[in-house]
Amino acid sequence: MSDCLFCKIARGEIPCRKVYEDDEVLVFHDINPVAPVHFMLIPKLHLASLMQAEDVHAALLGKMLLLAPKLAKEQGLNDGFRTVINTGRGGGQEVFHFHIHVIGGGSIPPMVRRS
Ligand code: 5GP
Ligand code: ZN
Repeated sequence: MSDCLFCKIARGEIPCRKVYEDDEVLVFHDINPVAPVHFMLIPKLHLASLMQAEDVHAALLGKMLLLAPKLAKEQGLNDGFRTVINTGRGGGQEVFHFHIHVIGGGSIPPMVRRS
């Protein structure tokens, strides 16, 4: 996808603060962090959201999920972290290239506020 923001980051056309990279996955810090540590894992292949994921993506998604705690620990999140996957407009997704947020450090509020 030539005009996809995260594809451009994956191709190195837009700079990022890289956390990890291999043939299939790129991990970089969020430009607008919501906590002291906030990075995102993306596949290098364009996958718009979790709604477009199919059986062929199972190994890649599993690899990304297993990478998250390793990188979280490397970033100092020894006490835990939050993973977030916003899916589709209904899920608040803003960049339509699948990504897993890893968020932690400081105090993490309850995920859903109940009044
Ligand atoms: P979403 O709401 O789609 O789950 O999250 C998209 C995330 O991408 C947001 O947290 C936003 O701060 C981040 N983001 C948007 N543009 C850029 C960018 O150019 N560079 C980086 N590193 N993060 C970005
Ligand atoms: Zn893309």
